[in-house]
Amino acid sequence: MAKIIQEIRSALEFYEALGYERLPIRLEACSRNGVGGDRETALRLLRENIGDCQRCKLSQKRTHVVFGEGNPDARLMFIGEAPGREEDIQARPFVGEAGTLLTRLIEKMGLKREDVYIANVVKCRPPLNRDPEKDEIAECSGFLESQIDIIRPDVIMPLGRIAVFTLTGNDKLKITAIHGKVFDYKGIPLVPTFHPAYLIRNPKDKWLTWNDAQKVLDILEHGYRTEGVD
Ligand code: URA
Repeated sequence: MAKIIQEIRSALEFYEALGYERLPIRLEACSRNGVGGDRETALRLLRENIGDCQRCKLSQKRTHVVFGEGNPDARLMFIGEAPGREEDIQARPFVGEAGTLLTRLIEKMGLKREDVYIANVVKCRPPLNRDPEKDEIAECSGFLESQIDIIRPDVIMPLGRIAVFTLTGNDKLKITAIHGKVFDYKGIPLVPTFHPAYLIRNPKDKWLTWNDAQKVLDILEHGYRTEGVD
């Protein structure tokens, strides 16, 4: 019973930090200039809520939970798949070889890592860097959804197939076919691109990701209107 009360308490503190005074309420109703919540606090409470997570089998082999990092007020959010070896050691997303490539892309876009927010679909490293399994994604993706609900970026760039599947619910989409197209995630434009690890293996495709990044920069500069919405 004490554990349940503690979980309810931390959930309520989480909503309070977002600026809500009453429940029930939909998290996505919190707009950039709307309810006036403190994103940094909300992210901290979310991290506390994850705790020393044992909710799925990835917890057995991981060293650290890799929550995500960056600017809580970021206008652009990158979403990868899962921490790798280096990320598991450092408890930070995209700090290995793929991370170096992602950082170069961010800088080529005229931004710094501290300007954007970087997170993963699952917060713990899958053994031998295998793909996260559907049950692991299902257990963990609520935390990613909360991160997006708190930050409410202007654009999201999912990196690779797993992030696209998680955010669109469609596991048939092929990155080669849909990269650079604009999808909708709860009213936020989603522009998928290749995972940096793929680009390390296929450097000739880097220019495709650069094209996708320019689409993102265009949306950041001029906004994006979903078809059929006034
Ligand atoms: N690959 C990912 O998808 N995420 C990381 O954080 C590192 C590598």
